Amino acid sequence: MTQTVMTQTLLSVKDLSVEFVGHKSTVHAVNGVNLRVNAGEIVGIVGESGCGKSTAVKGILGLLQAPGKVTGGSAELAGHGDLLSIKNKNLRKVRGASVGYVAQNPFGSLNPIYSIEEQFRNILKAHGQPSAKKVARERARAMLTSVGIAGPDRVLDGYSHQLSGGMAQRVVIAMAMLLEPELIIADEPTTGLDVTVQRQILDLIRDRVVDSTRGILLVTHDLGVIAQYCHRVVVMYAGKVVEAGSVETVFLNPAHPYTSALLGAIPRPGHELTRLLGSVPDLRVVPTDCSFRPRCKHAFEACSVSPDLREIAPDHLVACHLSERVGHGAS
Ligand code: SF4
Repeated sequence: MTQTVMTQTLLSVKDLSVEFVGHKSTVHAVNGVNLRVNAGEIVGIVGESGCGKSTAVKGILGLLQAPGKVTGGSAELAGHGDLLSIKNKNLRKVRGASVGYVAQNPFGSLNPIYSIEEQFRNILKAHGQPSAKKVARERARAMLTSVGIAGPDRVLDGYSHQLSGGMAQRVVIAMAMLLEPELIIADEPTTGLDVTVQRQILDLIRDRVVDSTRGILLVTHDLGVIAQYCHRVVVMYAGKVVEAGSVETVFLNPAHPYTSALLGAIPRPGHELTRLLGSVPDLRVVPTDCSFRPRCKHAFEACSVSPDLREIAPDHLVACHLSERVGHGAS
């Protein structure tokens, strides 16, 4: 686990809600999510598939596809105000310049028609930066070298289909860092890569992307990644934050049964492996009780009312009635 660095808040998300409105039903994908990222921090969002992690970050970045729509909340980016209130054209300028985005599939982020060099130049042009061929190539070469690409000229002259998955993701990270944004949002950046390359990419993100003025919001379903790379963690279930805090606190003293169940499913010294049974709930239905109730071995009468997220210790937030019972833990 990495040591926490306390500095300025880069991103502060409050009460973020996202819905997908269909003809017959509405999916309440994200329901009142709060989170923050400080400079110098890697904050992980974790949860099973379908818990709203990726939808939340796409909502923050204005990248939701219709019929997905942000229906409430704010996402204050330091120096830029509420991202959710910025019109599309201006938001495109903030994306790239002040927030970099690294998506799951690097090939989806790269344009197969343009050479890698042209794509670097296009980013500079779009943001009004010097983009003359020589200047742009120098900057692109420096960025590719900084993300560990040994032959940057060969990559710059080539096209995305000529790259391996790991190399393509390095290129995407270099592009995301080109304009030196303060915040990088990486959504499952190592999906589909083999284990060794996954490690290299995450090491790269930790060692090269974060510094005292920059932070990362890292979406993952892997608590092992959170343990190794993040300072703080936000656990999401059914579109809500159910637990948040420093990685040390949440891992050593999980207070939500869902967090405990996720931790129980990863091999840890001195802990018996357990399986989390059941599946995430249907988000077309707004529950009045705790969303985790059907899967929770600790459920009791109070759980018929949806619990609020509350601070049970400094910087340790939990949404579970169990935490209101003195002396009760979730493990
Ligand atoms: Fe389990 Fe109740 Fe806590 Fe929900 S509120 S996680 S059902 S103990």
